[in-house]
Amino acid sequence: MPSPDRNLRAVNLPADWAPQSWRNRTAMQLPQYPDAAALESALAELRDLPPLVTSWEILSLKQQLAEAQEGKRFLLQGGDCAESFSACNSGVISNRLKVLLQMSLVLVHGMRKPVVRVGRFAGQYAKPRSTDTETIGEVTLPSYRGDMVNAPEFTAAARAPDPRRMIKAHARSAMTMNFVRALIDGGFADLHHPEYWNLSWVGHSELAEEYRRMVTAIGDAVRFMETLSGAEVHNLNRVDFYTSHEALLLPYEESLTRQVPRHWGWFNLSTHYPWIGMRTAAVDGAHAEYFRGIRNPIALKVGPSVTPDQLLRTIDLLNPEDEPGRLTFIHRMGASGIAEKLPPLLDAVRRDGRRVLWVCDPMHGNTESTSNGYKTRRFRNIRSELEQSFELHAAAGTRLGGVHLELTGEDVTECLGGARELTESDLERAYMSTVDPRLNYEQALEIAMLIVRKQAQ
Ligand code: PEP
Ligand code: MN
Repeated sequence: MPSPDRNLRAVNLPADWAPQSWRNRTAMQLPQYPDAAALESALAELRDLPPLVTSWEILSLKQQLAEAQEGKRFLLQGGDCAESFSACNSGVISNRLKVLLQMSLVLVHGMRKPVVRVGRFAGQYAKPRSTDTETIGEVTLPSYRGDMVNAPEFTAAARAPDPRRMIKAHARSAMTMNFVRALIDGGFADLHHPEYWNLSWVGHSELAEEYRRMVTAIGDAVRFMETLSGAEVHNLNRVDFYTSHEALLLPYEESLTRQVPRHWGWFNLSTHYPWIGMRTAAVDGAHAEYFRGIRNPIALKVGPSVTPDQLLRTIDLLNPEDEPGRLTFIHRMGASGIAEKLPPLLDAVRRDGRRVLWVCDPMHGNTESTSNGYKTRRFRNIRSELEQSFELHAAAGTRLGGVHLELTGEDVTECLGGARELTESDLERAYMSTVDPRLNYEQALEIAMLIVRKQAQ
């Protein structure tokens, strides 16, 4: 097999960078571990454990993202806000995979272009928080920062950061990865058998009916092509699936940053496609320093306070050689702010001739709290931000190349509205997220159908 390296322009490794050079910068959002020796022993163990992904896979994803930058592919990235150790089970993993496969089928069919499939899973265990502590009554404790750091229960023992949790997160990520790979290799993602992806509890949905009609049409087209060519249509029985997570907990990421025999440079081998969250995106911060030196394709969340100048400086730092596929900007402005905030950023990057993949996260700028105390998002705001994104990119002469969503294959009631018009009183029925509200199966499929309609305009 030819090395995917040959397809990409060689770029220089920053000379003054090392996997630990982020330690000389200000690091936001990291827990304070009370026991330095316990931390060091957990990191030493991690450094010795096998990686979760390979450099070959990482470089082939980078190639696919380069094609998405040129409009030849569309990126679908989705999964939980926060994975939890207790939800590392076959039902949750396969249902999430089913939703993502169904959405990608809708997108492939409607957009007539291949989809790059990326999960927010197998490592999405560390969370940034807006406050370091949480107070209930008289008691103040450290905030919950994801299962990789501490536990959500409101007790001092649960909230104490425990470095052994990094080892457990690595193991759960490996189990998730292993199951996803086995399902895909075993034919679960075979386009000849999309019936494998039906989620039993949605048989009655109107969207499921529209989806089934689409599946029949695709099945007919596949059989027709196979009859014509007398051979199986290439690549239909196997799809690529990549992983991503917010690379927040830098000690963990550093311990899985490795060199490999056949490719030069350093790779983060805990995931294919790490991203920098909005709260840790400072251009002179520790996270940007860490990301600068790894060869993975990387993404950065771009919120409403980012200026065009900051964005250009970020590109200078993270992709100085304008390498194809290297850099993704995930904008998350909110439905009411995007029309004002996004165009100046698009203009600045376009005028400068910089190569980035633009992706819309219509979730994180639209979070609100209900009167009955739930953190939620309204489907109509999510939809509006996505629709405006397509329009604003078209007006700016740039291209929206993908979407980043928080979703689950479970029958949850966390976001309001959508086909079933969930209301505030529905939220208590099945609100399961430990952090942010996710689209349920129907709402996720509706978003995929909406993207297709928007693209066709
Ligand atoms: C997230 O993706 O879960 C998240 C915290 O996003 P952001 O950094 O955009 O707020
Ligand atoms: Mn989130």
